[in-house]
Amino acid sequence: MAAGRREKLVFGLYRSFWAAADWVYPPACAGCGRPGARWCEACEAQTQLITGPVCPVCGLPARQESLCPRCRRRRPAFTALRSWARYSGPLREAVQRFKYRRDLGLAEPFAERLCRLYRSTGWAADLVTCVPLGRLRQRERGYNQAKELSYPFAAALGMPFAPQAITRFRETRSQVGLSAAERISNLEGAFRADSSLVSGKRVLVIDDVATTGATTHAAAQSLLAAGAVQVYALTLARAVRLADHSDPVSGQ
Ligand SMILES: [Zn+2]
Ligand SMILES: [Zn+2]
Repeated sequence: MAAGRREKLVFGLYRSFWAAADWVYPPACAGCGRPGARWCEACEAQTQLITGPVCPVCGLPARQESLCPRCRRRRPAFTALRSWARYSGPLREAVQRFKYRRDLGLAEPFAERLCRLYRSTGWAADLVTCVPLGRLRQRERGYNQAKELSYPFAAALGMPFAPQAITRFRETRSQVGLSAAERISNLEGAFRADSSLVSGKRVLVIDDVATTGATTHAAAQSLLAAGAVQVYALTLARAVRLADHSDPVSGQ
């Protein structure tokens, strides 16, 4: 079958599966709890999409389209990272459900948002992969939300998908509450990439949420070390903290 046809067929089946599931078990919105849709229009309308100027590298919302202080100080290993919307309000609620409460039906509407975002970037990736969980966390949770999101994404776009391209080489502590510098050192050497899958390729990495971009940076480092020529990244949500708009000199 022609390249991409099989993936698109798989995506058709995937959508039909969720349509049937909704018919059998009418869904409630993961953002607000109202019955009718897995992700409702009211929650979509309340979501703060990232459409204005951003740092061209890390995608952090900015007043103008120029490198942010953090990327100026230390250029990340990835070429560019973009996120669909801010990690707040109903989207935050929905992502939490997706991540911790097995609300896997959310992957379909959210993968669609990521497809739209990808098309708007003009990037040309050869391969889609995702940020892996550590083995311990994977075993506890039973699934990796980034993989659940990237599978229908790749299928809808007819792109090759290699979820095993990156493995988490060692367990890392949660990034929550860590500063940008602490996040980078916490992830130092955490990932390994498979050169037989990524060598010579432009790789697109998918994750659910980005904060400082430290995870994406570490994943990109492992991909480049394994011979990838370029790394792009998309996340559904972007946690934007006040400190992210800090003064570049004092770092406050
Ligand atoms: Zn809703
Ligand atoms: Zn930046």
